[in-house]
Amino acid sequence: MSYESETLRKYKMPSKKEVEQALLVSLFKNNGVIKEFGSGEEIVNDIADKFNLSYEQRNAHLETIYRKENRIKRSFLWHRLLFRAAHDLANHNFVSRPTKTFLLTNKREWMLTEKGYDAALKLLHLPEKSKDLLLIKSYEVQKIVKKLVDSSAPKNYNPFNIETKTIKITKELSLRVRGFRQAVIEAYDWKCAFCGIKINSPNSLLWEVQAAHIVPHGSKGKDDIWNGLALCSLHHWAFDVGWFTLQNDFTIKISSKLNSLPEDFGKIGDFDFMRMNLNKKTKIFLPQKEEIYPHQNAITWHRENKFYQ
Ligand SMILES: [Zn+2]
Repeated sequence: MSYESETLRKYKMPSKKEVEQALLVSLFKNNGVIKEFGSGEEIVNDIADKFNLSYEQRNAHLETIYRKENRIKRSFLWHRLLFRAAHDLANHNFVSRPTKTFLLTNKREWMLTEKGYDAALKLLHLPEKSKDLLLIKSYEVQKIVKKLVDSSAPKNYNPFNIETKTIKITKELSLRVRGFRQAVIEAYDWKCAFCGIKINSPNSLLWEVQAAHIVPHGSKGKDDIWNGLALCSLHHWAFDVGWFTLQNDFTIKISSKLNSLPEDFGKIGDFDFMRMNLNKKTKIFLPQKEEIYPHQNAITWHRENKFYQ
């Protein structure tokens, strides 16, 4: 038996398999990503807490002798175990390694792959279709996000899909839709572009904000960042039914029909969900990068086809 496995046994450390499973669950609960494991990282203690590791187990060391350099390198046994488990997960494509993720996101993080995401859902007894509701990162979806937000805005953008055959609900389509959702919501900082509300569920897994299509899917609208807008469910609904639209300078234009509504419509106490922006010339909240603002061709279409003058 090797020195390392002997030490692991001596300190009655959890098995690599158990640590791998705990890692997948932790990744899931940390939005799909975790930094490299080192002292002071919260995640390192969080997982140790899950195993109820004692002080001795958390602080046990491995000593490696480097004869050539004539020195002894000490490393935490617990960190080593986490590393080994993470590398094993990466070897079997459940996670991407920090070096690989870096090329995609410029951050050195372990990131769930779709395979790892599925495994985490299974461990937590959640159905696979939860992926359509959650905004947890996966390597494959982030690849689509990068493609969507890195391209520069085309002058003559066509917001319509020209594919004539009906698109089957394939894995590819579901990834594309999730990529669109993730890209739009991240670009708008998880806020409604109309009212600015930003709120998630108490367990932090679900977000209220939705990725709206300016030209909707039903009218063959594309899953592009230029055809997207992050809106809360209330303002998503109001946008889709034509209560408001956008001018070319991104100010909000509200339907004159609103004036003929009864006084008590659309209100929660003093909060008036449409009129809050009626009198001011208010712009929507926009992404940081101008290249990914909603495209004029998409908003013009909405103004002409969906908006109720
Ligand atoms: Zn809103």
